[in-house]
Amino acid sequence: MGNGILVLNAGSSSLKFSIFNVGAASLLSAMAVGQIEGLGTAPRLKAKGADGSVIADEQWTTSEVANHGQALQAIATLLRARFSGQELVGVGHRVVHGGPDYSAPLLLTPQAMEMLATFVPLAPLHQPHNLAAIRAVAEARPELPQVACFDTAFHRTQETVAQLYGLPYEYYERGIRRYGFHGLSYEYIAATLPELAPEIASGRVIVAHLGSGASMCAIDNGRSVGSSMGFTALDGLLMGTRPGNLDPGIILYLLQQEGMSARDVESMLYKRSGLLGLSGIGNDMRVLQESDSPRARLAIDHFVYRISRELGGLAAVLGGIDAFVFTAGIGENSAYIRRLVCEKAKWLGIDLDPAANEQGGPRISSVDSKVSAWVVPTNEELMIARHTCQVLGL
Ligand code: ADP
Repeated sequence: MGNGILVLNAGSSSLKFSIFNVGAASLLSAMAVGQIEGLGTAPRLKAKGADGSVIADEQWTTSEVANHGQALQAIATLLRARFSGQELVGVGHRVVHGGPDYSAPLLLTPQAMEMLATFVPLAPLHQPHNLAAIRAVAEARPELPQVACFDTAFHRTQETVAQLYGLPYEYYERGIRRYGFHGLSYEYIAATLPELAPEIASGRVIVAHLGSGASMCAIDNGRSVGSSMGFTALDGLLMGTRPGNLDPGIILYLLQQEGMSARDVESMLYKRSGLLGLSGIGNDMRVLQESDSPRARLAIDHFVYRISRELGGLAAVLGGIDAFVFTAGIGENSAYIRRLVCEKAKWLGIDLDPAANEQGGPRISSVDSKVSAWVVPTNEELMIARHTCQVLGL
């Protein structure tokens, strides 16, 4: 009989999960990963085992699986059937916002839940779903310890000067500051480098997390010193459906001159901008790469341009860089985007090895490159599982 850790990542219409085996030396390996997508429209469960084989593919009506609680029950049913010899000893959650103070994972208590609920206004599209999943587990298995792992925590090492916006100072004190996100991904990369690339692990490293959400982080000796995402996950790079960095005057213009409501603007910023908005085709980089539409080309060029600008800015924050790391869906899989980014970063001393880049790394720069470039697959779920074990003393 083994012990298992369930990792949950709850979105507005999805519940992603992984189950990890807690080994003798707390070495963890995922036994299954999956997700229920389409909550509220067409709920569908898909899951794979450790070897990549499909272990579940089921569809329901919205009355059969209506919410996160029922999605959790469906996942529990699957896990009981597949892993009957496994005892669940803890649940780790990805929680998007830990507010200004939480810089480490947190064992969840009723008091902690009250505190996390006060951060809902800071992340209204994500935090309520994260908390809903925690409540659903607490109702179904009240005895099971739960741990919250925050996407903002890794960035709490940043100095005040890096977290400020140039608004009246009282707004900083009221929580309007640069929080940074994708922290679990950056923390995983920082934790992986000492083994993968010890020569850069204690140096100045910029990591580009390029997925459907995209951001970059400046890491100095394993600690975050700057990030492209700010008060919300809208800031910084161009993303799948989000515009990234915008002149705030545009928002005022849309509200005042175009007569858009705050809700309309919110929907445009989160769902209709970015690669999708620019290309008019879609938000999937694979589709854009294969398209011969000029606007797909423009969207890709702007995506790369924004990465280059951010790279220059973060390199200045670090006072120079030793290494550049690509991660997440696009960063790990698109040799084409990596090539375009590295070509623009020649001035920094990055010299791409085209063959190594095509093969996916891990090192994709030439031996003579002054600054090395890498591809490092991220694993936020494993980071959450590790934290959960640590907090629970497993
Ligand atoms: P998230 O976890 O934020 O949903 P991922 O990190 O899984 O996102 O990245 C998803 C994106 O990665 C997809 O939208 C797709 O554009 C991109 N992607 C995945 N594989 C490739 C590939 N081979 N080439 C280019 N882009 C890819």
